[in-house]
Amino acid sequence: MNFRLEPGASLVVATHNNGKLAEISIMLAPYHINCLGAASLGLAEPEESADDFVGNARVKALAAARASQMPALADDSGFCVAALGGAPGLHSARWAGPARDFDLAMRKVRDALGASPDDRAWFICALCLGWPDGRTASFQGRVDGRFAWPPRGDAGFGYDPVFVPAGDTRSYAEMGVQAKEADSHRARAFAQLARACLPARA
Ligand code: IMP
Repeated sequence: MNFRLEPGASLVVATHNNGKLAEISIMLAPYHINCLGAASLGLAEPEESADDFVGNARVKALAAARASQMPALADDSGFCVAALGGAPGLHSARWAGPARDFDLAMRKVRDALGASPDDRAWFICALCLGWPDGRTASFQGRVDGRFAWPPRGDAGFGYDPVFVPAGDTRSYAEMGVQAKEADSHRARAFAQLARACLPARA
């Protein structure tokens, strides 16, 4: 089966999260792809009903591809903490509540950790490219690091201020988007997707 987009193809970026959209747009910029945002097309956000990241990315990609009749790229990702058994994980957005308050979500992680000496944490990102005919290609990236308290930095989104990747001293929010995207969980998934599904770089 052919999973590669033609040069000049249109692609729906199936996310309503502006942080993800900004990062994915930077990664797609060097390719001959015409990107359209899901929100600007008025696409609804489907229920995330699967029990893993790849499954949810697939649900979102296929819903957007079928509604738009164009290929669609979806992201499902999360922040995982070892001492919390991998939580918030799949429920990373839900920990921020209906107001999408990530100061609150980061504080909840801190409180749940209590006095635990284990600060191991990681980000996971699943990317899925879906087509209106039901084909999908999925990829997953992970970056290990640690939970750092208090939150540091103003860039990025979500849990970026409390995550320090292994080998660095800066939180993702201190690095800024360009440095984060050099080797983030999203960049690792995207590199696989680019090799399998995107045309040559411009
Ligand atoms: P979902 O994939 O829409 O279920 O949302 C995942 C949630 O995980 C986001 O709302 C963010 O809070 C968090 N998340 C995923 N990727 C990142 C990241 O790169 N930095 C910070 N938080 C992230």
